[in-house]
Amino acid sequence: MSRSIVPDLKTLEVWFVTGSQNLYGEETLAQVAEQSVEIVRAIEASPDIPVTVRWKPVLKDSESIRKMALEVNALDNVIGVVAWMHTFSPAKMWITGLDLLRKPLLHLHTQANVELPWSEIDMNFMNLNQAAHGDREFGYIQTRLGVARKTVVGHVSNPEVTTKIGTWSRAAAAWAATHELKLARFGDNMRFVAVTEGDKTEAELQFGVQVNSWGVNELVEAVDAAAESDVDALVAEYEELYEVAPELRRGAERHDSLRYGARIELGLRAFLEAGGFSAFTTSFEDLGGLRQLPGLAVQRLMADGYGFGAEGDWKTAVLVRAAKVMGSGLAGGASLMEDYSYDLVPGEELILGAHMLEVCPTLTTSRPRLEVHPLGIGGREDPVRLVFDTDAGPGIVVALSDMRDRFRLVANVVEVVDLPHPLPSLPVARAVWRPEPDFATSAAAWLTAGAAHHTVMSTAVGLEVFEDFAEIAKNELVVIDRHTNLREFARELRWNQAYYRLAQRL
Ligand code: MN
Repeated sequence: MSRSIVPDLKTLEVWFVTGSQNLYGEETLAQVAEQSVEIVRAIEASPDIPVTVRWKPVLKDSESIRKMALEVNALDNVIGVVAWMHTFSPAKMWITGLDLLRKPLLHLHTQANVELPWSEIDMNFMNLNQAAHGDREFGYIQTRLGVARKTVVGHVSNPEVTTKIGTWSRAAAAWAATHELKLARFGDNMRFVAVTEGDKTEAELQFGVQVNSWGVNELVEAVDAAAESDVDALVAEYEELYEVAPELRRGAERHDSLRYGARIELGLRAFLEAGGFSAFTTSFEDLGGLRQLPGLAVQRLMADGYGFGAEGDWKTAVLVRAAKVMGSGLAGGASLMEDYSYDLVPGEELILGAHMLEVCPTLTTSRPRLEVHPLGIGGREDPVRLVFDTDAGPGIVVALSDMRDRFRLVANVVEVVDLPHPLPSLPVARAVWRPEPDFATSAAAWLTAGAAHHTVMSTAVGLEVFEDFAEIAKNELVVIDRHTNLREFARELRWNQAYYRLAQRL
C-alpha cells in the first residue's frame, strides 16, 4: 500500500512562453506560434522532462507579458516558466512582467532549425529565425533586473538540452514544495549544539518553509490512540517487507517492542497527516511519554517522502524534503545522513556515515533487516530499526548552515562504495563513500565552509539540481567536487561573504 507524499511531477506544469512583437505581421507571427508549438512537442516527448510543459500563445506586448506573470504567480500547479525569444522581442516590454514574476525562470536559447539551409537562406528566413539576437536582448534585461534564472543553450533535439530543462524543472518542483512545506518539530534542538540552530523566520522568507513546534506529548497521545487492529496490520506489513529478527516476530520474546514501533509509526503518521506536515524533527532529549526513540517509524516516513532531521535539525529536514521531490520517479533515494567515522588508510580514505537509527531505506535496493538493539543515549527502551547498506554508486551530500546574516548550502559530490568489510557489530543503516576530489581536500573544504555534520544524502539526483535550486533561491551554494582547489575555495568563501552581504536587502 503506497502512502507516498512525493508528488508525481507530471501533475505540475511549466509554461513555455515565446516572445515576439507585433511588427512582424500576422504571417510571420503565425509561423512563430507554429514553430514554438513544435519546440514544446519536442521537449514534452523527451524522457528527461518529468513535468508537463504547456505551450502558451506568443507574447507580443507588455500587457500580455504582465498578465502572464500574474497568472503564473497565482496558479499553485504552475512551478515555472521557460522563455524563448524566437524573434526579436524588445525587452522593455518584459520589465514589468519579469519584475512581477515570482516563479523560477529558464531562458531557453534555441532555434527552430538545427542546420542553416545555406542555399535557400533569404531575408524572410533571417527575419523569422533571429533568436541569436532576440535572446541577447532578453538576456540583457534579465541581467539588468537581477532576475535569477537558468540559461540553457542548444537545439531541443539534443538530449543535453532536454536533460538540463528536466533538471531545472526538478529544482523548480522542490522550490514549490518548500513553499508549501509545513514542518513539525517535536522538541527543540539538541542542547548546546550550534550548527543545527538557525533563524526560522528568515527561513520562511528565504525558502517558504513554515517551521513550528509541538509538544511531544501531543504526539504521544496520537501514538497511544492507535488501534490494536492497525498495529496488527502494520506488523504484518513489516513481516512481508523486511527480514524481521526472530526475537521480534509474533510469539517471540521481544514482539512487544515491534508492536510499539508500529504504534509510533501510526501515531506519527496520523499527526503529520492531520496537520498537513511534510517534514518533521524529533529530539532524543525530549521524548515525553514515548517509550522508544522513533527509529523504524522515521525511516519509513522518510521513505514515503517526508523530510526529517534528528536532534531538532529542521534545516536538514527541509533539505531531505526538497531532495525527495527533486528525485521523484528516479532510481535511488534521499536520506538524513551524518558523517560519523573515517577510514584513514592513506590513499584509500573513506567516510562512514550513519545515524543513531534514522537512515532512509530508499538508499538501498536490498531487503532491510528489522532489528532491536539497545541505544546508549536517551535512556529509553531499546528501539526497533531497519539495518541495511546503502547501494554503491554516485551520490551527493548537501548541508545547510545559518551564517548569521544568511544561509549557506554546501554540496560535496561523492561516490558511495560497497562496504570494504562487513560490519557485523554495527546495528544501524549506513553508507560508506569516497568524497570528491579526495578525502583531505573534501574534509578541509567542508570544515572551512562551516558545513554541518548532518546532511541530506541523495543517490537519485546530482549536483546540477541543487545548483539550480540555489540559483532559484538566490542562496549561496559552495561546491566541493573534482574541480575543488583549497586555495580557490577559501577565496570563494571570502568573496561570497562580501557579495551576499551586499546583495541583501538593507
Ligand atoms: Mn545527529
